[in-house]
Amino acid sequence: MSRDALLKDFMDRLEKTAPGETEFHQAVRHVVRDTITIEKAHGDYTAAKVLERLTVPDRIIGFRVVWQDDAGQVQVNRGWRVQFSNAIGPYKGGLRFHPTVSPSMLKFLGFEQVFKNALTGLPLGGGKGGSDFDPKGRSDAEIMRFCQAFMRQLAPHIGPDRDIPAGDINVGTREIGWLFAAYKAHALEFTGALTGKGPSFGGSAIRTQATGYGLVYFVEAMLGDLNDDLTGKRVAISGKGNVATHAAEKALARGAKVISLSDTSGTLWARDGLDQDTIAWVRSQKAAGGDIADPPSKALRFVEGKTPWSLEPDIALPCATQNELSAAMVQELVDGGARIVAEGANMPLTADAQDKIMAAAILHAPGKAANAGGVAVSGLEMSQNSHRQFAPAEDVDRKLKDIMRAIHARVADNGREGNRIDYVRGANIAGFRKVADAVTAMGAI
Ligand code: NDP
Repeated sequence: MSRDALLKDFMDRLEKTAPGETEFHQAVRHVVRDTITIEKAHGDYTAAKVLERLTVPDRIIGFRVVWQDDAGQVQVNRGWRVQFSNAIGPYKGGLRFHPTVSPSMLKFLGFEQVFKNALTGLPLGGGKGGSDFDPKGRSDAEIMRFCQAFMRQLAPHIGPDRDIPAGDINVGTREIGWLFAAYKAHALEFTGALTGKGPSFGGSAIRTQATGYGLVYFVEAMLGDLNDDLTGKRVAISGKGNVATHAAEKALARGAKVISLSDTSGTLWARDGLDQDTIAWVRSQKAAGGDIADPPSKALRFVEGKTPWSLEPDIALPCATQNELSAAMVQELVDGGARIVAEGANMPLTADAQDKIMAAAILHAPGKAANAGGVAVSGLEMSQNSHRQFAPAEDVDRKLKDIMRAIHARVADNGREGNRIDYVRGANIAGFRKVADAVTAMGAI
């Protein structure tokens, strides 16, 4: 059977057993496309049905979250934790609070997390969780009460050797503090069952910055492979959250010209490049729940309803959310002469955009490799907690840089085709091989 026929057969069966889960199908299709012939060529993998096993989560825990708003009204939300695979280590992955969160979305994120965590070289399995709770317009006290109610339901299912959640969209250091306190009250012990904690209670230095910084280190490794560097490169970034602003900060520090940040209402465009003060202003606006439509300098323009991709960047870093970049936007990048798209967000390209970019002469680094810096520093936080130690920022930053370079090397080894690297294929194959070896070694269980 050809690769396409094998893929179709696999996806037909998956779509029957997991109907309507479009984001999950999209994520699985891209991994299976690159790995199904490897499974078939490897007798042990085929006998163990590795891909079939890796596309069904170990379990999905679902629960009701009941909490009271400031007016004393009872509010009811839904929460989930998808424990996808602990083949190479305890479940690890973020929590997302957003009205669009659903089991399908968490399955796609948990599935991707399995391979991302494998690529870091650390002993981390994959999972993802969250709630359809929308923190927009909620007071701090309401968000805290929601975090406490959410953790009352989740706490029995996590722990430092079982499942260690972290933050994701709308779950930052502040929320992790509230979640951790509720976990601690349930477990009656102080253990590192969450990462992304504040530095005064076990959090690692630079965990907050790690995904954005790591993304830039990965891009530098890509450029290094081309005997080039970031100096003077025009970098367009979408999003204005944790990943976007820290990627902007680091790219600027490494000599690039950062020409945009954005949010759901439009793009902040800096023809001559953003400076660190403006990035700090964007971060404080986001933290205060404000918008970025009224920038502090005349050299900046906020363009409503626009994305950054027509600004003719050399490098595009989508750092906002899944499926934010369409095929038409990839075409804008091609027309503008972009050379690199590296994903800060998870699966920011639609299925059509992924097909389009494969045919273009743009190097495309998938999130499972390029945004693995956050989970890598979470892994370092787990080690620090186990050893009751705190590593200084310079040490963690150096280790983060080493890990991102090592991920680049693993991906390049598996994705090099002549003098070009297929980063998507390389990441899928390297992550798959590591997990598949563990699954196979453990027998039929
Ligand atoms: P944040 O909640 O800090 O920020 C997300 C930002 O993206 C918000 O400001 C939101 O804007 C904006 N946004 C959402 N949709 C769009 C859109 N279609 N176009 C433009 N902007 C948009 O999230 P993070 O920075 O933590 O996460 C961003 C992405 O990175 C997610 O895909 C996440 O899964 C991924 N990621 C995060 C990691 C981490 O360590 N935090 C680790 C690895 C991956 P608005 O304010 O208008 O809602």
